Amino acid sequence: MKRNIDLAEISDGKFYTTNDLAKLGCNDCIGCSKCCENMGVSIILDPLDIHRLTIATGLTFEQLLIDKIELNIVDGVILPNIKMNQKNICPFLNEENRCSIHEHRPGFCRIFPLARIYENNDFRYILQIHECQKEQKTKLKIKNWICTDDINRNHSFINNWHYFLLSVSQKLSAESESSIKQITMFILNMFYLTPFRKDIDFYDIFNERLKNARSALDI
Ligand code: SF4
Ligand code: SF4
Repeated sequence: MKRNIDLAEISDGKFYTTNDLAKLGCNDCIGCSKCCENMGVSIILDPLDIHRLTIATGLTFEQLLIDKIELNIVDGVILPNIKMNQKNICPFLNEENRCSIHEHRPGFCRIFPLARIYENNDFRYILQIHECQKEQKTKLKIKNWICTDDINRNHSFINNWHYFLLSVSQKLSAESESSIKQITMFILNMFYLTPFRKDIDFYDIFNERLKNARSALDI
């Protein structure tokens, strides 16, 4: 997502990689669920997030769209995000104020309160200082905080998806209304509506689809 932000205002001014330590430990979030509430449309979901949500819930993408996710336009592309419920709470937050799909939670939730800053065809993390107000945080290795399988392939996937969307967004700015509709539906179909098989490595299938999509869109 393209945003103009003042890093000095929102972060501690440092850039982090997954092997760095950052003050993230918040005692297991005990007594707090602030970042699972009032999040608007900000928890945007990538294809891996949706794949994980289908595994966690046993629901299809279409079934998730009933009341757990919604579609919005982000930089010209139709993308899903977590849909806050009527009380402005994430539908996956349980009655004990814990994430009911913790093992399968989206990337946004895994990195929070970190954010990604993209440059030079890669990204690093920043620590947002106004997002999590828990006091006396402990230092943790970022890769342990994110806690995802195969952190290096995950990094490549996130990076490739970001720069693919950037290319799409640039292409769309020069297209007619009907082409924009066609292209955005093509992406939605290829990366979200068509399920990723659970018995084949996600990243392998994603990389194949990405190659095909780049070729079909000539980007
Ligand atoms: S705001 Fe901080 S302490 Fe509260 S739930 Fe989020 S990460 Fe945990
Ligand atoms: S998916 Fe889990 S961690 Fe993420 S906002 Fe919802 S309840 Fe919170």
